[in-house]
Amino acid sequence: MNIINATLRKRQGLFTVTCDGGRISAITAQPDLLLAKDDDIDAAGQLLIAPLVEPHIHLDATLTAGDPQWNMSGTLFEGIERWGQRKATITHEDTKARAHTTIRMLAEHGIQHVRTHIDVTDPTLGALKAMLEVREEARHLVDLQIVAFPQEGIESYDNGRALMEQAIELGADVVGGIPHFENTREQGVSSIKFLMDLAERRGCLVDVHCDETDDPHSRFLEVLAEEARVRGMGSRVTASHTTAMGSYDNAYCSKLFRLLKHSGINFVSCPTESIHLQGRFDTFPKRRGVTRVAEIDRAGMNVCFGQDSIKDPWYPLGNGNILRVLDAGLHICHMMGFEDLARSLDLVTDNSARTLNLGERYGIEVGRPANLVILDAESDYEAVRRQAKARVSIRGGQVLMTRVPERVEFA
Ligand SMILES: [Zn+2]
Repeated sequence: MNIINATLRKRQGLFTVTCDGGRISAITAQPDLLLAKDDDIDAAGQLLIAPLVEPHIHLDATLTAGDPQWNMSGTLFEGIERWGQRKATITHEDTKARAHTTIRMLAEHGIQHVRTHIDVTDPTLGALKAMLEVREEARHLVDLQIVAFPQEGIESYDNGRALMEQAIELGADVVGGIPHFENTREQGVSSIKFLMDLAERRGCLVDVHCDETDDPHSRFLEVLAEEARVRGMGSRVTASHTTAMGSYDNAYCSKLFRLLKHSGINFVSCPTESIHLQGRFDTFPKRRGVTRVAEIDRAGMNVCFGQDSIKDPWYPLGNGNILRVLDAGLHICHMMGFEDLARSLDLVTDNSARTLNLGERYGIEVGRPANLVILDAESDYEAVRRQAKARVSIRGGQVLMTRVPERVEFA
């Protein structure tokens, strides 16, 4: 299969990308526009990108908002209460059905790689067992990484450590954590040591909900980064949210950045979720409650954007479209200078793939999997400005999905 007349990010001119046996077999510069023949797919000068990536979502909670009751205040705390009501009615089939529907929404928007956090503070590990089945059943649409996520803590939940170990034993890919939620500072620190030991011993990746609060004294990021640095695991470790960094003073943050750079860890920000849930104890002036995305990026560290929630008790909106989150994130993080706009897709493609450690399983290079998306736009700038949709999604060298662009006719 040939995809002709493709614009590739960060390269000049038009290209033909040839796929054979599920892999990219050639990338050929074109002197001119070509006419499509046989089974050629004509990108018509639009962007051909490696698939969009969702690096942070909770597929076990998705699509539950309003069932049985809506979160009326919009706060994190009422979200926990509403989730408690819904959790009582959850079944294996219900969890699977909602996850499959959500994965389809993600795939519709050109996403083919997903990392989901799954709550393992449950003696039955029910949601995890459901998601392990979903990971296999949805393989034709996405590659799914499952994080063993201790929503109610590792040290402050009964048998928390054993449940984490069981979750990895059952097949979770990534070790999670939530140190700022543990009962004490000491428990937060020991939870990080425990989860890093577990990941190192089992060869797992790490993704910790870290300092997801406006409390400037929540400083578990330094513990996570130091553990990663000492163990040489930085590229395999992710700090999600780190919203407290938005409240740290600059003197502390400049010292912290030195360690973060040495550690080589990755960052995920979920800007729509954070701007919605954080800043809730402030009157005015009111904090944004988002981590220092632009500053992390400027310092040469790896940072990407995630959706976190789709229609759940904590966040009522969302439709699978990560470009919506990119749009919001660029606004919220003061990244609307043209240089940022012109490479904005990094934050939802290459940077996210690096966070997920996709390595040579990702990217438009000869020999890599033929997973490709044609966006209905000619550049990163136009993609985010026009909220471009995925026009064609190709997976393993086969067309997975096509979309007919909407047409508007004036009378
Ligand atoms: Zn999360």
